[in-house]
Amino acid sequence: MLDQFDDRLDPTFATADRDELIARLRSVLPADRLITKVEGMRVYESDGLAAYRGLPGVVALPDNTAEVCAVLKICAALGTPVVARGAGTGLSGGALPFPGCLLLGLARFNRILGLDLDARTARVQPGVRNLAISEAVAPHGLFYAPDPSSQLACSIGGNVAENAGGVHCLKYGLTVHNIQGLQMVTMGGEVLRIGGEALDAPGFDFMALMTGSEGLLGVITEVTVKLLPAPAHAQVLLAAFDDVRRAGQAVAAIIAAGIVPAALEMMDNLALRAAERHVHAGYPVDAAAILLCEIDGAVEDVAAGLARVSVLCEAAGASKVRLARDEDERKRFWAGRKGAFPAMGRMAPDYYCIDGTIPRRRLADVLVEIQRLSVAHGLAVANVFHAGDGNLHPLILYDASAPGEMERAETLGGAILELCVFVGGTITGEHGVGREKINQMCVQFSEAEIETFAAIKAAFDPAGLLNPGKAIPTLARCAEFGAMHVHRGELAFAHLDRL
Ligand SMILES: Cc1cc2nc3c(=O)[nH]c(=O)nc-3n(C[C@H](O)[C@H](O)[C@H](O)COP(=O)(O)OP(=O)(O)OC[C@H]3O[C@@H](n4cnc5c(N)ncnc54)[C@H](O)[C@@H]3O)c2cc1C
Repeated sequence: MLDQFDDRLDPTFATADRDELIARLRSVLPADRLITKVEGMRVYESDGLAAYRGLPGVVALPDNTAEVCAVLKICAALGTPVVARGAGTGLSGGALPFPGCLLLGLARFNRILGLDLDARTARVQPGVRNLAISEAVAPHGLFYAPDPSSQLACSIGGNVAENAGGVHCLKYGLTVHNIQGLQMVTMGGEVLRIGGEALDAPGFDFMALMTGSEGLLGVITEVTVKLLPAPAHAQVLLAAFDDVRRAGQAVAAIIAAGIVPAALEMMDNLALRAAERHVHAGYPVDAAAILLCEIDGAVEDVAAGLARVSVLCEAAGASKVRLARDEDERKRFWAGRKGAFPAMGRMAPDYYCIDGTIPRRRLADVLVEIQRLSVAHGLAVANVFHAGDGNLHPLILYDASAPGEMERAETLGGAILELCVFVGGTITGEHGVGREKINQMCVQFSEAEIETFAAIKAAFDPAGLLNPGKAIPTLARCAEFGAMHVHRGELAFAHLDRL
């Protein structure tokens, strides 16, 4: 298993005087917002990547920006590492505590601070749940577009830190495209305001830099999100295929035709069977793969767009193409897709969700190659993903209680990510690097690029106290893993160029 923390990190991080830290924190936070007992801290031990665990030294639960500033100043003075946490649904170990760190829980920042209906923006605290924003603005005919499948639980602060995506990001963009302002606190306890009411600002684009910064550069304490008018109409088409390759070709054809669906998602047989048992969505369980393609807008545009998609799917070899009969069925189709991850619990005791992005024209090749890797490693893989974005989510099924299976799942996951890089893609589409993909960063980036990332981190956080050991590998780590991985990728996937 991947060592949970780089042993080259400064060992004094873990040994900062805990008693002194707690005593100072008590002067800025009430006792009920500090958790110091092990049993109370257990819930913070991991995020959605539950295979990785670490116990913080103390958990602090501030509920306003001044408290965050005070806590960070204390940690900076004592050299205590800090790990920010939203709802803990992350899948790459981003909120995994560094042993002995201060875990900064932001769930109490859960207020919508203001709506500006003229500007179509909302000012929200970082602990507000993603779905709560759309629910709050629905009476005004508006919605917040990025919709991760975890939207019922995940926080907007976590979404910004991970640059979260979702089913509807193909048309409406990722988090970075849907926010307009941020307030953040630096490790030194300074408050920075980034962006604002104007669409552009002079200077470096700090908002883009903060989006996807995985808690390494600062703590986000307020987000101004953009709101969009809810579409007048939406309809979804389900296309079934006897062969995943044909489904991949249909995706490439839809994109090449210049159609911009609101969502274009694919599920292979294992994933759709699991989702069907879980949600009873009405999926054809004998299909090798299904596509869900949603188009939204004016009624006539939706009908015309779906007619074109239907023709393209049939030309790609779909065995069945049909529209959702009514709004209830449309919602059921999406409930199946959004419930596909938890549905995996019906297929195996554990699953490991991989997140990589590839050029869409390589979808068919890569799905076939993943199937080959699955057989070679002896672990089943279900695929359910944002096909329109080329953002794959292979779900590796394993049993953590079976000796060696976790390690095999990790090896297979690493091979799939290297495959993504090999075909011109990236090692993350939306879940971030966190602790999980730190080795694969060495495969994706050159030494000079990694050094530049580290220099940016140092400009914000010179002592390296914010979320240490995540997202940016040390060059020493890359020297051990990087060259070997690139070499292995080149050898292992050379045959793909012939496909
Ligand atoms: C079933 C399931 C489905 C999912 N589907 C999707 C999907 O469709 N699309 C998608 O993008 N993701 C998805 N995810 C992953 C996850 O929900 C997202 O990454 C989400 O953005 C994490 O939000 P969170 O509040 O849970 O953050 P956490 O897990 O608490 O933290 C994530 C990272 O953000 C940092 N962070 C959190 N809050 C702050 C803050 N206020 N300031 C600075 N840093 C902060 C943490 O340090 C950590 O590095 C899914 C997860 C699950 C379990």
